[in-house]
Amino acid sequence: MPKINIHDIELLQNVNEKRVWNLITVFYEYHSEFCTCRDCVLDVVAITLNSIPPHYQVSEDPTPAIKKISDEEILKVIKKAALKVAENPHHV
Ligand SMILES: [Zn+2]
Repeated sequence: MPKINIHDIELLQNVNEKRVWNLITVFYEYHSEFCTCRDCVLDVVAITLNSIPPHYQVSEDPTPAIKKISDEEILKVIKKAALKVAENPHHV
């Protein structure tokens, strides 16, 4: 019997998610022209995460993740996403 446990999916994490969350804070510090309401920020994060490759790692693995995309590249993608959201915001 294979030891497959559907709940083990929780042990996998996309390390790029955390990087985007950290970098978006930096981004908004320098770009106060963009709306930072919850809707807009979540849209920017979703577009950014859909635009960069995911990087899954087993969360118990202590080896630091090798960055396959640089912070600078992610910041460029965040800016593109922010411009797109600003053009057509979902906030009320
Ligand atoms: Zn907004």
